[in-house]
Amino acid sequence: LIQLYMPLNMLGFAYREIRNALVNMESMFGLMDVKAEIADKPGAPALKVAGGEIVFDHVDFHYEKARPILHDVSFRVAPGDTVAIVGSSGAGKSTVSRILFRFYDVASGSVKIDGQDIRDVSQASLRAAIGVVPQDTVLFNDTIYYNICYGRPDCTREEVEQAARLARIHDFIMALPQGYDSTVGERGLKLSGGEKQRVAIARTILKNPSILLFDEATSALDTRTEQEIQRSLEEVSRGRTTVVIAHRLSTIINADEIVVLDRGRVAERGRHGELLARNGLYADMWRRQQEAAREAERHVPEEEEP
Ligand code: ATP
Repeated sequence: LIQLYMPLNMLGFAYREIRNALVNMESMFGLMDVKAEIADKPGAPALKVAGGEIVFDHVDFHYEKARPILHDVSFRVAPGDTVAIVGSSGAGKSTVSRILFRFYDVASGSVKIDGQDIRDVSQASLRAAIGVVPQDTVLFNDTIYYNICYGRPDCTREEVEQAARLARIHDFIMALPQGYDSTVGERGLKLSGGEKQRVAIARTILKNPSILLFDEATSALDTRTEQEIQRSLEEVSRGRTTVVIAHRLSTIINADEIVVLDRGRVAERGRHGELLARNGLYADMWRRQQEAAREAERHVPEEEEP
């Protein structure tokens, strides 16, 4: 019986791992409908990450030929720097992150990491080098410990706690009746969007990637949660090349460069202060967001005020 049980057990483990990996990918990029069109070149070597420099060089891209999405997009993220991609809805921000992860190939131009065209290296090595904190993290029906450890099966309790501390979720976990053994996900404890994102940040800290892709949640978070996420993001992006797909400009004022996309083109670029002084598209978005925040504050019902 044991001879039968062992392979079945292994099969169950493999199934769970594969299913989890798929759920993870799909949820990250909303890729339910994407077919596996991208193949590795025969014998493609692994990406060799040195500092983690990212270069988008004159990138054009379309999902369907009749509808171009990105036009001549160029930007460089120096090793260890943080670059934020901003722009109105539909401008092409998430498309940039999908291209970086090579879910799609560019129509022309190139994307290079440390000088290597991402089409020339194995996809597995490319994806292993990039840690993604998605907008909407789907947690597995398992313990919070498993959810943080995911992707690093050899992690120790100490490492998990350290990552959770850096992600500013440790105290929250310790306050749960079953602590790190609490079951989360669909059939367990439901975490808020901000809590889930911090679990994803802890997971990414453990994965220790050279490059970080942070897809900021679109939905507004309360100021305190936003600040907590902001701090944990600063923690995880320290010393790593970071690309932030940003919706709230207040979170990226310290970015080394902000790339403003407008209908798939780079309309402006620079640091927060420079872009404000330029008084263009970014300054306009900033004013509108500030105004909306003030407006929201004016309408906070009495009992919800801290
Ligand atoms: P948001 O802030 O609303 O998330 P975004 O700037 O991230 O927007 P993208 O998701 O990159 O925008 O989309 C850019 C354009 O590409 C949009 O017009 C969108 O309709 C189109 N698009 C996105 N995904 C696909 C797809 N899989 N197939 C065809 N068109 C797509």
